[in-house]
Order: sequence, then C-alpha cells, then structure tokens
Amino acid sequence: MSESATLRMSKKARALRAKGLDVISLSLGEPDFDTPQHIKDAAVKALAEGYTKYTPVSGLQEYVASIQEKFARDNDLHFEKNQIVVSNGAKQSIANVCLSILDQGDEVIIITPYWVSYFEIVKFAGGTPIKLAAPIEQDFKVSPEQLNEAINHKTKAIIFSSPCNPTGSVYTREELEGLAEVISSYENLIVIADEIYEYINFTGQHASIGAIESMKDRTATINGMSKGFSMTGWRLGYMGAPAWLAAACTKVQGQFTSGAASFSQKAGAIALSTDLSPSYEMREAFLKRRDIVIDLLKEIPGLKVNHPTGAFYLFPDVSSYFGKSNGTVIIDNSEDFAELILENAHVALVAGSAFGDDNCVRISYAASEETLREAIKRIANCLKNFK
Ligand code: PMP
Ligand code: GLU
Repeated sequence: MSESATLRMSKKARALRAKGLDVISLSLGEPDFDTPQHIKDAAVKALAEGYTKYTPVSGLQEYVASIQEKFARDNDLHFEKNQIVVSNGAKQSIANVCLSILDQGDEVIIITPYWVSYFEIVKFAGGTPIKLAAPIEQDFKVSPEQLNEAINHKTKAIIFSSPCNPTGSVYTREELEGLAEVISSYENLIVIADEIYEYINFTGQHASIGAIESMKDRTATINGMSKGFSMTGWRLGYMGAPAWLAAACTKVQGQFTSGAASFSQKAGAIALSTDLSPSYEMREAFLKRRDIVIDLLKEIPGLKVNHPTGAFYLFPDVSSYFGKSNGTVIIDNSEDFAELILENAHVALVAGSAFGDDNCVRISYAASEETLREAIKRIANCLKNFK
C-alpha cells in the first residue's frame, strides 16, 4: 500500500517549517476554522456527564437518531436506524464498505480525478481499481455514455465524491439520474457516494444519488463531520446503506476499531441537529477565497484553471510547463511541478498524479486570504523563470 500523498505533503511542509523555513502549506484538505463553540461545549458536557466508555459499534443511539433525521431533512434519504453505521471518519466508512463487498478481482470504477485513498483502499480490499477519466474540459465529470463503456459484469462498485476532492466539481440531480440509469441495468452493482463536502457547495443544491428510486437499495451514502463542521480531529464519519451492508460494515468495524469516541458522538448529535449557520458561514468564506485564488491563478500564463462549485480545492492543469526549464531544473510531470514549487517557492501543493491526473496539481484554499495571496504570488514568481 502506498502512503497517502496528501498526508505525505503536509508532513513534508511541517518538517521544512520545523527547520525554520517559511513554508505555506496548501496541501492538506482541512478547514482552517475552529470547530463551532456550541459543538465543543457539547463534548465538554458529555465528558462531565461520564461519556468516557466504549460505545455500540454502529453508534450511540442519540447520534444515530440525529443522522437519521439529517439524511431525511437534507438528502431525502429515509433510513431505518439499522441502516446507519457511525465510524471513526468517512475514510473508515469507505474502507468498511470495500472490505465488506469486494472479493479478489472484483472491479471498482473510480471516477478520476479521485480522492487519493479510494485507490489504495480498493486494492487493499482485494479489488481492482478501474480509473474512469473525466477531463477538465468536461468539468471533471463523467457522462452516462462513458460510464456505460467502463462497466462490465466484473464491476462490483462505483466510487466518487460530489462535491469532489480534488476538483471541487458537483454533480447535479439530472447528471446523477443519467448515471443511475446506466447503473440500474447492472443488478449487483454498489454505488459508494462520498458526500463529505455536502455543506461546502456553492450551487445551493446538493443531490444524493442514493435518493434516486432505482439507487436506493444499492447505495452506500458516506458522510462525516470533518469538512462541514471543521471537526477533522474528532474522527467522526457515518454511512447510510442497505441493512445487509450496514450489518457487514458493523462486523468489519467491530474487529478493527469498535465504535467511535463517545464524547465526539455526543457533540456530533448536537452539530447535526442544531444551528447550521456556522457551517454556512464557513462555506461563504470558502467561496470568497475560491474567487480570489481563481483570479490570481488566471494571471499566471499557461495554467488552465477549473471553476469548481464545491469543496475547497482548485485543480489547475499545469501541463503547459512540462518540458520547460529555468536553466537548472526541468519540469516533466505534476510531481516535478509540486516538488519545484515546494523547494523554490516554499508552497506545498499535491501532485495531480496522486489523484489519477498527472496534468494537474491540487491547491487547497482552506487558508486565510492573506496566506493565499502570498502563496500564489510566490508560485507566479517561480514560474516566470521557466521557458
Ligand atoms: N472523503 C473525501 C473525499 C475526503 O476528502 C476525505 C478527507 N479527509 C475523507 C473522505 C475522509 O474524511 P474523514 O476525516 O471523515 O475520515
Ligand atoms: N481528505 C483530506 C485531503 O484530501 C485530508 C487528508 C487525508 O485524509 O488524506 O487532503
């Protein structure tokens, strides 16, 4: 299994900083805001009340109930409690599903660019990852025709995120209906829909593929608290899925980690069932930053910049720099590009190759406006010398 490239780059940036270098890290997908106060208060209260013990593997009843309500309220997904499994992060929910359903050689279509861990989790679970590429010209989204060509009788699952990490693209309900029509003719195919960026969506409309009638009994809808509530360190994720799959995931998780942290879940219940305005405020801040970064990047010659409608990433195509040199180094691929920007401009990005697209690099704009302006200025200055 290879190391997570996102975590590796952030580790590298931290190490350079520790050496005293002024490194700006735009590598890690982590909101820079603190967790809203009322959520932190709920955890403190839970600790004071003695919520310090093991929890049921599939989640505390109170948190499960808040997830059940949230799915109905926001996603038109109507699960029974035994269809919901709380986990130690969306990452674990995805691993639970893959370990539950994949046998050696089962193919999993991964819509590409994809989030780094999908590929390794699928391989680890014995599956064969099949990349289905969606280029920048298509706003990094696949068409039903493309999906139809990629599916065959060995395809066990399809996995994608919307809003997408690393592209920020968001599928509309109509687009998902087009994909659902193709999927529905393959009886045993499972859809793994990663909706962890649901609340960071600038279109005003989030669509869940699992809410489409033909997809209801075959979709694992994955979500979590890390992004929308800025709770990355609390390690809370969850899934809604058919009861048989939820039972299998509970069994897997019961052997690996048991239930998620008790006081995190108590706070999670408050987060999902009370005022969402702190989440919406964060979304507005991300939107403003997105526009700032897009405008600045557009001024750098040779970059093809996408226009994402969700998450907090940009995924510009930097391939026009491939083959160019500043007299000392030549850029040949996205890894060279990211390496050069880190070494020379002291800005950490992540190479697109880690997400299955070697023409691009990922920029996380979960940083202050001032930091973002400085970072893009440094990148522009560094690239000026490449001919
Ligand atoms: N899915 C995507 C698309 C992500 O970007 C992340 C980032 N952490 C995760 C899942 C995992 O999130 P968690 O912190 O809940 O494990
Ligand atoms: N999901 C975030 C990212 O893509 C966090 C890092 C990780 O979990 O890989 O950067």
